[in-house]
Amino acid sequence: MHEYSIVMSLMEQCESLAQQHQAQHIEQVELKIGMLSGVEPALLAQAFETFKLDTICHHAKLVMNIQPLVLQCHNCNQQSQVDERTIICPICNSNKTLVVDGEDMMLMQLVLDT
Ligand SMILES: [Zn+2]
Repeated sequence: MHEYSIVMSLMEQCESLAQQHQAQHIEQVELKIGMLSGVEPALLAQAFETFKLDTICHHAKLVMNIQPLVLQCHNCNQQSQVDERTIICPICNSNKTLVVDGEDMMLMQLVLDT
């Protein structure tokens, strides 16, 4: 499953960050999940709970922040936030837009316990 490989690389990222900061545990993992990232939050949470047991994250809490889409319109030059999967500008209905945010998933913050 897609989410499983995401969580595995996330865990690796967590382990190396914890090592860098000489942390013994990770208390909290905060993620930003873009609406168009293709990541299903429920599946991701499930994968996280399954994998964390054998890692430094074994009692970490997962916090997921869903990032709505942010579109920059080339027609009316407005930037808008939309809550649906669309690339149509809500102001002028143009499709000449650029997705500025909401396409990726990233690790925002780790709370470490030393
Ligand atoms: Zn527009």
